Amino acid sequence: MKILFLGTPGSGKGTQASIIEKKFNIPQLSTGEMLRECVAGGSELGQTLQNIMTAGDLVSDDIIVAMIAERIEKEDCQNGFILDGFPRNIAQAKSLDTMLDEKNIALDKVIEIKVDDKAIVERITGRFSCAKCGEGYHDSFKKPQKENTCDACQASEFSRRKDDNEESVRHRLEVYYNQTAPLIEHYKNTGIFYSIDGMKNIDIVESEIATVLNNE
Ligand code: AMP
Repeated sequence: MKILFLGTPGSGKGTQASIIEKKFNIPQLSTGEMLRECVAGGSELGQTLQNIMTAGDLVSDDIIVAMIAERIEKEDCQNGFILDGFPRNIAQAKSLDTMLDEKNIALDKVIEIKVDDKAIVERITGRFSCAKCGEGYHDSFKKPQKENTCDACQASEFSRRKDDNEESVRHRLEVYYNQTAPLIEHYKNTGIFYSIDGMKNIDIVESEIATVLNNE
């Protein structure tokens, strides 16, 4: 199963992709996560990437396309994958089309998760994650059950993304509407495009996505 998620930052793409990753045993390919790993490596390139990401701009297509091309060659992608955060503009979508054509494979589902802009700032500025295992939390919607202790691994250190501040979020939204939203037209007439209401709670969104995925 090859799935592509579209949606604004904070729409829940990453949350739903990680649920599907476990259910279907196919990897979640998050370009944002790959970039954050590169930043954590501390190289000069990492520093340059960090500056672009903190501002909420897009990293250059060459870097992103090369990253994905290398990743989908790996063994664990042979049964499928979930694209989360890629493509982000028409040029990337065309590169993806070419990449898949060359491998003689095709996407099975493109799923847009729709959320009201008003909800996004609150969703994003409140989120944080376990510094050890990456489990995601939120100041209002999902606090750790025991204060300062990760539910999943019991670690007590948490981190917040540098770009999860209001100024960056507003700019990321602008970038989304200018550059990423046109992808909806790109995929709309392919017969594999679905739009889901991401304002419902996580379990309902999960089950609506499951219905789409089970519908051959
Ligand atoms: P995300 O984790 O998907 O919210 O991505 C965080 C940041 O990484 C974005 O704001 C961009 O700066 C960068 N990024 C992630 N994916 C891409 C992509 N496909 N193209 C360009 N930049 C990206």
